Amino acid sequence: MRHCHATNQGVAIRTPNLEAWLTSTRSRRGKQPFRSFEGDMCDGRWFNVTETTDEQGWMLCIAFDITTLRVGARSLRQARDGALRAAQVDALTGISNRPHVLQQLDMRLQELRERQQPCGLVMLDLDKFKSINDTYGHSAGDMVLVHFARLVEATLRRGDGFGRIGGEEFMLLLPNITPHALTHAVSRVLELLRAARPLIHVPHFSYTCSAGLAMLDSSAEVADNMRRADDALYRAKAVGRNRLEWA
Ligand code: GH3
Ligand code: MG
Ligand code: MG
Repeated sequence: MRHCHATNQGVAIRTPNLEAWLTSTRSRRGKQPFRSFEGDMCDGRWFNVTETTDEQGWMLCIAFDITTLRVGARSLRQARDGALRAAQVDALTGISNRPHVLQQLDMRLQELRERQQPCGLVMLDLDKFKSINDTYGHSAGDMVLVHFARLVEATLRRGDGFGRIGGEEFMLLLPNITPHALTHAVSRVLELLRAARPLIHVPHFSYTCSAGLAMLDSSAEVADNMRRADDALYRAKAVGRNRLEWA
């Protein structure tokens, strides 16, 4: 082991203090009738090692080369993590997609029932978005959607939920907030939007959105809570857009 450590060959030993490492390794060696562990070599190979110790102290040691298994398992793990992430994310904007934000809504509703933790629910819909597409093209429309996601995202606190639930429709979940603070938070978003000029090639272009606000109601189901915020949004549209309305 000293030779391996000094020459950087054989078993990979990552320690600044070899003597302490040797002491700790010796203290484990041969103490159990059987043990199994994984270790790697300086050349990158991985081994699964089993040690069987008999009553006289003789030890049978078998090492399997598991390098390809480990590499396979790692890429499988990475692919699984990537797929899990992709399943929760909206591809255009990078924020939560509809299933993921609805799952968060479900969780917030449960927290409200179990721990009386209040949560604000906001439905947001961009105003006259179809005419943005029609006037400046679909890719300009996409840019506006991404701009909107970035702008709102920048105003959120940790723990807030934000997802795209339809083409130009978004949902916000703000836990631990008062109605007054929720009004303030959404007003701020509307204000920032009015001042933004997101299309570089159309410098005068600006856009707005409308919002429906509600506090989660523990006695209502997910769909009913969404409907209350949606009704408020519909009212905001009906009375002229570019504003918020409470359920
Ligand atoms: P309102 O103010 O009443 O909400 O009017 P609106 O035009 O925003 O609403 P409407 O529902 O009539 O139009 C929504 C448009 O959003 C229609 C659709 O083509 C467009 N859209 C949906 N998804 C996308 C997308 O991913 N990219 C782009 N560029 N447009 C999209
Ligand atoms: Mg719209
Ligand atoms: Mg819409």
